[in-house]
Amino acid sequence: MNNSPKKTPMAMQTPEARCRNFSEVALGYSPEEAVSEAQRCLNCKNHPCTEGCPVSVSIPAFISRVRERDFGGAYDVLSASTSLPAVCGRVCPQESQCEKFCVRGGKGEPVAIGRLERFVADAHAGRGSSPAPATNGHKVSVVGSGPAGLSCAGTLARMGYKVTVFEALHALGGVLVYGIPAFRLPKDIVAREIEELRALGVEFVTDAVIGRTYTVSELKEDFDAVFLGTGAGLPIFPGIKGENAKGVFSANEYLTRVNLMKAYEENSETPVFRGKQVAVVGGGNVAMDAARTARRLGGDVTVLYRRSEAELPARKEEIAHAKEEGVAFRWLTAPKEILTDAEENVTGVLCVRMELGAPDASGRCRPTEVEGSDHTVQADMVIFALGTSPNPLLKRTTEGLATGAHGEIVADGDGKTSLDKVYAGGDAVTGSATVILAMGAGKRAAEAIDRELREI
Ligand SMILES: Cc1cc2nc3c(=O)[nH]c(=O)nc-3n(C[C@H](O)[C@H](O)[C@H](O)COP(=O)(O)OP(=O)(O)OC[C@H]3O[C@@H](n4cnc5c(N)ncnc54)[C@H](O)[C@@H]3O)c2cc1C
Ligand code: SF4
Repeated sequence: MNNSPKKTPMAMQTPEARCRNFSEVALGYSPEEAVSEAQRCLNCKNHPCTEGCPVSVSIPAFISRVRERDFGGAYDVLSASTSLPAVCGRVCPQESQCEKFCVRGGKGEPVAIGRLERFVADAHAGRGSSPAPATNGHKVSVVGSGPAGLSCAGTLARMGYKVTVFEALHALGGVLVYGIPAFRLPKDIVAREIEELRALGVEFVTDAVIGRTYTVSELKEDFDAVFLGTGAGLPIFPGIKGENAKGVFSANEYLTRVNLMKAYEENSETPVFRGKQVAVVGGGNVAMDAARTARRLGGDVTVLYRRSEAELPARKEEIAHAKEEGVAFRWLTAPKEILTDAEENVTGVLCVRMELGAPDASGRCRPTEVEGSDHTVQADMVIFALGTSPNPLLKRTTEGLATGAHGEIVADGDGKTSLDKVYAGGDAVTGSATVILAMGAGKRAAEAIDRELREI
């Protein structure tokens, strides 16, 4: 037993080194460190940590195998519940899920469940995949290869379904490849987990935009069921003067160009504008990723956030990393206008100071403008990270598909939509949320599809 009140530390690149490269910041546990951390787990009978996991990983079971140095056995336990353990171990907000409920957290730090998950998944790399199960004769199509689609595909494939994933882009993985930067989630990790699914028999068709290349009705003719995991990729802009100026980006476009089009490489064929003074507007994980990316591309970066640090929604770890890397923050600051020169290039952001009033519908204090507080933040580049909504293409091209006020697909707890044998889950249903919630939705929909098709 390891009685340390603190998590076993994980090696990291120093801030000075990492703010000039796109290699992964965290370096992972050695086998000795993983075993030592696993010895902190109390193997609680009622496993509250599992209750906090949206895909119900048997956490004490996988950790006991790590303690026994049975890393392969630990991987088997993990992969029974999650199709993307190396991804989840890196980007899940464990502090508000499994680790939040860990009994060890009562008198010190919780067991480092995320770090152990990452270790087990990485230790498994190159060990070969489980063989594809015998097929049960049913075919299911999955639209979108983000975490929701991959989780649905993996769950169904393990049950013997023949699954085909249709992806609009040329690369697979959704936000995991085009949104989350490589310094948090290396792209070969995502590719490795997708290879595991291929080994299970999942087929992938890229450059296939459903609603254009094929319609949902056409998929329904060829498959027994359809799962829509199309995400929420449409960026929201604030609607202020100057937001179309040269040098203004949505975080989605900026991160896609850097991550997917490799604009960070010298001599990239698709270079991105490299701002010297960059203002990032927003306070979530997306804002932190955009800020840290712009920093790595040589900019002096300031995050403008309209509430205070206490309300910042990004993960604490990402905020700490951003600060260590030299990203500056201006709290209680909101943009009013993007200032430009005669050629429409960004020269600054006209901002106002905000003060916090009573809590709003989200439970956070409502920011209101302080009169007469106009001031200018110098910038040659502005990145808006104010959230996203689902792309309206499926709604426009799929008759009878019910959608909500913000374009989100309406689905019940099992992912069932208004259309027969059409299911949906992930950001396309909830609006932008998290990887593990999208995976949980994909898994639940897969189980519901299985129940429905077995009844036929
Ligand atoms: C920059 C950034 C950082 C984030 N960081 C974190 C984090 O640290 N931790 C965390 O838990 N969450 C994070 N999130 C949120 C998380 O990534 C999303 O909640 C999650 O990816 C949603 O999964 P999804 O499968 O629903 O959608 P997506 O990942 O968006 O995948 C949807 C896929 O569907 C494809 N598609 C869309 N329309 C069509 C169509 N018509 N036909 C075919 N394919 C289509 C898209 O190209 C895409 O590949 C982050 C998000 C962003 C943008
Ligand atoms: S709650 Fe914490 S200590 Fe208990 S089984 Fe889960 S990880 Fe181990």
